[in-house]
Amino acid sequence: MDWVKVNVPRVTRWRWKVQQEVMEAGVPALTRKKSICTKCHRRTTREMGHSRYEGRFFCEATDPSGLTVDQWLNEQRGGLTPQDVHQKRLQKMREYNRMPEVRERSNRWERENRRKKKEGEEERRKQEEEDSHGMRKDEGECWNN
Ligand SMILES: [Zn+2]
Repeated sequence: MDWVKVNVPRVTRWRWKVQQEVMEAGVPALTRKKSICTKCHRRTTREMGHSRYEGRFFCEATDPSGLTVDQWLNEQRGGLTPQDVHQKRLQKMREYNRMPEVRERSNRWERENRRKKKEGEEERRKQEEEDSHGMRKDEGECWNN
């Protein structure tokens, strides 16, 4: 017999299950009763200086590092804000595009594209001319007279 199934109300078991899932997902629990920090005995909200990151818990008031929630979160993310990460990526892209071989390649592509476009235009013009010739020919011919 499963002890939990016998002795714990169904609703409570369901709540445990939800809590478990929420914790595994790394999301702060959306319970109405706010949980209280065991270290500073305040509510574990962001406003009260608490945060969680990938299962780690942070309490600003009692943390020995003296970091604020934002600083701690930044550190957990590798010292980078999402904007930083974005800027870094842009910077990398710019540096990459400045490399001689990359520039040479993109120049080559551009030349190639221009050539293809030109060829395509000529091809289209020829096609259009043929089409209009064909039209004129069809219009000119009259089978029923
Ligand atoms: Zn706390």
